[in-house]
Amino acid sequence: MTFSVTILGSSSAFPTSNRFPSAQLVSVHERPYLVDCGEGTQTQLRKYGINIAKINHILITHLHGDHMFGIYGLISTMNMLGRTRDLNIYAPKELDAILADHLKYFGEGMTYKPVVHALNTTQSETIYENKHLIIKSLPLRHRVPTCGFLFKEKTPGLNIRKELIEKYNLSLRDIVRIKNGAHHTLESGEVIPNEKFTYLPYAPRSFAYCSDTIMSRYIIPIISEVDLLYHEATFCEDRHQLALERGHSTAMQAAQIAREANARQLVIGHYSSRYKELDQFLIEAQSVFSNSHLAEEGKVFEIPLQQEKPTPLNFYK
Ligand SMILES: [Zn+2]
Ligand SMILES: [Zn+2]
Repeated sequence: MTFSVTILGSSSAFPTSNRFPSAQLVSVHERPYLVDCGEGTQTQLRKYGINIAKINHILITHLHGDHMFGIYGLISTMNMLGRTRDLNIYAPKELDAILADHLKYFGEGMTYKPVVHALNTTQSETIYENKHLIIKSLPLRHRVPTCGFLFKEKTPGLNIRKELIEKYNLSLRDIVRIKNGAHHTLESGEVIPNEKFTYLPYAPRSFAYCSDTIMSRYIIPIISEVDLLYHEATFCEDRHQLALERGHSTAMQAAQIAREANARQLVIGHYSSRYKELDQFLIEAQSVFSNSHLAEEGKVFEIPLQQEKPTPLNFYK
């Protein structure tokens, strides 16, 4: 039951000799979700052994080239590989017309359909869900309509304490009812509350992706207690004013958001090419939020499963 984030690109604006523009592969319960698709993303997917054919969902934060120029090549490659399933693309609404125009010239003989789902960039909404996962949009503040994404694992089904099945001689029917949340009534009429029988097998995990944006406290309640936060840090504090003018954040501001949201772990990225070394970003972020890390191509951030232990049996005596 994976929940991991692979960094495919960490640069802002344009590719450099050792960095690619924004792209990350989020894997939840073995299903891949591509978040942003800067130039060269398909090269990176191949480099890190990710099967392009398995990608059914691509999420684009905003229509700046460093977050979407890779989509043209990827769409084309998927076609050459004989894809037949629809490709779901979640993006600001203008992408629909842009892609339609592009495909007039480059979409001849398409074997599948790219379907653009227009994002509302002004308020947080559920944009996708399946049995295990819910993805919400996160309105951000940038130079063009932009939203980030919150990936949240759904609360898993309840487990039943095996010792109590024997103790209360529970039938299969009882077990199903209790696992669905029912209390249990004994022959004597005594009611045993559900929480004495059940526990969550693991705590739901979460990841928030926030790029590009100025520091925006609006998102804090939405991403509160997130396990892993990716927040852009295009500049360091030495270019505080420039960050504001360009609609970006500094490493220190990203760390402030992580601290105020009570995130468990922070990853920063989207570095300006003005900085040759990244140490300054890390030192600055860690001065505010110690569990800060640098996004670098190929790095994988796993969110481990936190097993919820059943309450000790003697609790009930
Ligand atoms: Zn950008
Ligand atoms: Zn941008």
